[in-house]
Amino acid sequence: MVQEIGKVPFTLDSVFKCQCLECPVQSMSPCVIEAKEKLNEALKEAPLKREEVPGVYCAAGAATCGDLNPDQHCICAGCIVFSQYELDKGTPAGYFCQRGPAK
Ligand code: SF4
Ligand code: SF4
Repeated sequence: MVQEIGKVPFTLDSVFKCQCLECPVQSMSPCVIEAKEKLNEALKEAPLKREEVPGVYCAAGAATCGDLNPDQHCICAGCIVFSQYELDKGTPAGYFCQRGPAK
């Protein structure tokens, strides 16, 4: 089952392409670090649960972790999902963890 909120599918394929785990906006977040440690287990679930996957916010919507730092730089523009779905032409066009899914 694929959950679709915006135009990017919230799938394992998107998770594996996503760059959010490398992003400085969330790299210091204890909430994200905890979710990252459990990610292998979370990815076995179908459907994926957005609160267990710290990334693919362009598909899943804004982060459920409340301790991200949006003063840092969003690296979505370098992600293959971003170019694949032409997210630069949508709204929002980055910081999906803060602003919600790509539409
Ligand atoms: S565009 Fe951003 S939120 Fe979407 S998959 Fe890529 S890095 Fe993750
Ligand atoms: S959506 Fe952008 S700002 Fe948010 S974690 Fe992913 S790459 Fe970083």
